[in-house]
Amino acid sequence: MNFEYSEKSIAFQEKLRQFIARNILPVQEEVASFHRDPDNIWKRWPGIDAMKEKAKDEGLWNLFLPKTYGKLSPGLTNLEYAPLAEIMGRILWSSEVFNCSPPDTGNMEVLAKYGTPEQKDTWLYPLMQGDMRSSFLMTEPNVASSDATKIETSIVADGDDYVISGRKWWSSGAMDPNCKIAIVMGKTRFDAPRHLQHSMILVPMDAPGLEVIRPLSVFGYYDSQEGHE
Ligand SMILES: Cc1cc2nc3c(=O)[nH]c(=O)nc-3n(C[C@H](O)[C@H](O)[C@H](O)COP(=O)(O)OP(=O)(O)OC[C@H]3O[C@@H](n4cnc5c(N)ncnc54)[C@H](O)[C@@H]3O)c2cc1C
Repeated sequence: MNFEYSEKSIAFQEKLRQFIARNILPVQEEVASFHRDPDNIWKRWPGIDAMKEKAKDEGLWNLFLPKTYGKLSPGLTNLEYAPLAEIMGRILWSSEVFNCSPPDTGNMEVLAKYGTPEQKDTWLYPLMQGDMRSSFLMTEPNVASSDATKIETSIVADGDDYVISGRKWWSSGAMDPNCKIAIVMGKTRFDAPRHLQHSMILVPMDAPGLEVIRPLSVFGYYDSQEGHE
């Protein structure tokens, strides 16, 4: 297999490096000190939206979506995108600037592949514009969630609604004030073979009954906040 970078990927790499050098590196300390301030936890750094617009204007946008998605995609293969992800990954928060940050990336792919036209209008296109964020809710506190067959959340059809019963944690992005939608993994067929029981359901963050209980800290981040673990 040929792992050489294509000319297109090399050109994007160069453009990305230059954008980061011009726009991101100079404010790195400002962003870090903003997020170190306990008053700013779960707030968005105020400069982020202007920087996103700039990246969008320069064509450094939604780079993650593979070219198999046709006109939704900037036209890169996964192999062409991989070094771009590596460059963005050097600065913890920079992938959001290019609308390439998880869990939005995976969620957008799911919506692009399986969403109805209405779901795409409501969730996919605003996510692709960077106007909202999203979350992916699989992991549960009571089970070893690296094995998804153990997931306990139930999703039960009830007339025109679905009733979802369960508890999730480690839901990256759920505390972002811009997070409007969660893709939730649960089980709809408890009596099916164990690998055929699961479904994903779209849950707006303001759905009745959805309760965000508390933030979690990770890798030492947010430890300074009283009440965080
Ligand atoms: C920074 C961060 C972000 C995350 N973001 C998200 C997110 O957005 N959405 C989401 O749903 N989850 C998220 N997660 C959770 C993550 O997906 C889970 O932590 C991961 O899948 C492991 O599941 P677990 O924590 O239940 O650990 P466990 O499954 O309990 O695993 C603990 C240990 O036990 C081992 N183990 C488990 N089962 C077995 C077995 N049967 N035999 C032998 N060994 C076993 C594992 O290898 C591991 O070493 C995030 C986690 C982190 C740290």
